[in-house]
Amino acid sequence: MFDTLLTLMLVTSAQAGHVHEHGHGRVAIAVTGDGQVEAEFEIPGDSVYGFEHAPRTSEERAIVQRANALLSDPAVLLRFNDRAGCVATGAALNGHEDSGGSSHQDDGHPDDDDEDEAHAGDNHHGGGHSEVTVTVSFQCEHPNRIAIVGTNLFARFPRIEDIEGVLVTDSAQAAFAWTPRDMEYRLTR
Ligand SMILES: [Zn+2]
Repeated sequence: MFDTLLTLMLVTSAQAGHVHEHGHGRVAIAVTGDGQVEAEFEIPGDSVYGFEHAPRTSEERAIVQRANALLSDPAVLLRFNDRAGCVATGAALNGHEDSGGSSHQDDGHPDDDDEDEAHAGDNHHGGGHSEVTVTVSFQCEHPNRIAIVGTNLFARFPRIEDIEGVLVTDSAQAAFAWTPRDMEYRLTR
């Protein structure tokens, strides 16, 4: 069900004219009546790594490693008011890999010239841009007490200027925007 919701929301925002713009991220958040929360973030690679090519140097690999560790931390991505009793249940990142950007396993066959094909899963677009996708999930003990949905991304990634969001619950749907000055969305009930 989450997959359907998130796909729907991402398609909707794509139709609304989304283009890859540095500094601008997106998030779709779904909350079910029994308290499951799933959120999918899409953020330009430039905004989290400072570059969008696969890391080439050890310095770039270190940057990617640090950024990916932060992006895999549910507490950096999403937070709720305490009374909702939300506990992180997982996070999955699809971004650059600090091993050098290749997404294939080293399964013994020698490096050959299908490097480009091997990178097909890295979210690289034709223009050399890349997008980082992170999915994070929580289980909330009291979903009806969720009053604030916020993020700590701006403190960690100063290149992010804003994040446009969609929040869907079983009874409501809302659009919002997080900025460094307003990192909390307050639900009205
Ligand atoms: Zn870009």
